[in-house]
Amino acid sequence: MALQVFNYLTRRQEVFRPISEGFVGMYVCGPTVYGHAHIGHAKVYITFDIVHRYLEYLGYRVRYVQNITDVGHLTGDADEGEDKIAQQARKERVEPMEIAEFYTRSYFEDMDALNVLRPDISPRASGHVPEQIELAQLLIEKGYAYVSNGSVFFSVRSWPSYGKLSGRKIEELEEGARLAVNPDKRDPLDFAVWRAAKPGHIMRWKSPWGEGFPGWHAECSVMAMKYLGLPFDIHGGGLENIFPHNESEIAQSEAAYGKEFARYWILNNMVTVNGVKMGKSLGNFTTIKDVLTRHNAMTLRFFILSSHYRSTTDFTEEALSAAARGYERLVSTVRLTRDRLKRSEPGGSMDPAFADVINHHKDRFLAAMDDDFNTPQALAVLFDFSREVNSLLNSDRLVTRTTLEAVDDLYRTLGGAILGIIPDQLSTSTERGLETQLMELIIKLRAEARARKDWATADTIRAELARIGVVLEDRPEGTTWRIAQ
Ligand SMILES: [Zn+2]
Repeated sequence: MALQVFNYLTRRQEVFRPISEGFVGMYVCGPTVYGHAHIGHAKVYITFDIVHRYLEYLGYRVRYVQNITDVGHLTGDADEGEDKIAQQARKERVEPMEIAEFYTRSYFEDMDALNVLRPDISPRASGHVPEQIELAQLLIEKGYAYVSNGSVFFSVRSWPSYGKLSGRKIEELEEGARLAVNPDKRDPLDFAVWRAAKPGHIMRWKSPWGEGFPGWHAECSVMAMKYLGLPFDIHGGGLENIFPHNESEIAQSEAAYGKEFARYWILNNMVTVNGVKMGKSLGNFTTIKDVLTRHNAMTLRFFILSSHYRSTTDFTEEALSAAARGYERLVSTVRLTRDRLKRSEPGGSMDPAFADVINHHKDRFLAAMDDDFNTPQALAVLFDFSREVNSLLNSDRLVTRTTLEAVDDLYRTLGGAILGIIPDQLSTSTERGLETQLMELIIKLRAEARARKDWATADTIRAELARIGVVLEDRPEGTTWRIAQ
């Protein structure tokens, strides 16, 4: 079977065929760096890490470009509001670029912890302003954009295929557009490619139309074009950005450069909390850093992979705890295999019956991955395989070193290289996180102090923890802890 992917452009699952044999160019909309990454971000970037890893497993040379949005993303996501980075800079009383730098580092720190392989290129929007001005100029020359009051707007009605990705019709757009009227636009449907900077706006660049800054959609168009050329194979991102962001990226790129933009649009569904989208602007988010104080990073990765990327993932503490148990069950068999391997005599022939078991599970696993990266199914295959391994290790059969090596190899390839959840080195102290274990110890000592009515010790523990930013919460079911926000 060949790899099939669900393409949002055609709304169909299609056989994946790259433009150049053996090479895949992939662009994924990166984070807007104005806060710590949350679980919604974990889902996007773990999703495309799986795409990246699996394509490499299949033998493709992948060039993965994922931008850093450090300018131009407004609080309204479309054409209204304040720049998100500038707003955060004002709150924290620092330079906007300090905000961008700080949260870019934080983002990579989280992604490294989650074993997300780094993109090949992480271009920043602020480093590509000349290219964005050029895009605006091309669009004006070709009659698809116009200048108004120092801003450049793309004329949506001049581009008949606008709406081809999101499936939105011009009439539907008119309904929504009536709500936000911008006097600079000729038509409320139009969107900004370049925006004039108001007095006091810090991030500004000189342009033929006066000082301003690029529109959010423009940055992805120019960076994809610059590093991948047009057309390129895969454009990825979160489904919530399909409109207006992705739709506008396609329109302005195809209009300006006269070429098709991206072949396959792979978009992941959102993370929800009680059925509502998790988002920074909604305030119902949990940061990756917060989860990692309570859980192993691999648990979070396992949790994300337990649902298909095109399904929603409902985030609850219970689901996360269930994932922790599931993950522990999976790695316990890997650990058992490796322990036996260490103690085994060298050599011996491969157990033919178990060679069949290995091949059968490998085929099933790859079939799941070929079916639009079906990671929950792939994990189910790993659990089935582990059941076979457990019964082999618990049987009286002689298990040769060669057989054990083949089992461990399969875990390393499927669970390690492709899914990124089984590290080469498994250590017991990091399974649940050293912090978690230390906090459990401290909470236990405090409970003992309280039991013997030693309130002074109990209060000191609470106060000292508070001083370093750890909050204890006493509940009927016991004491929990969290990092103060
Ligand atoms: Zn983008």
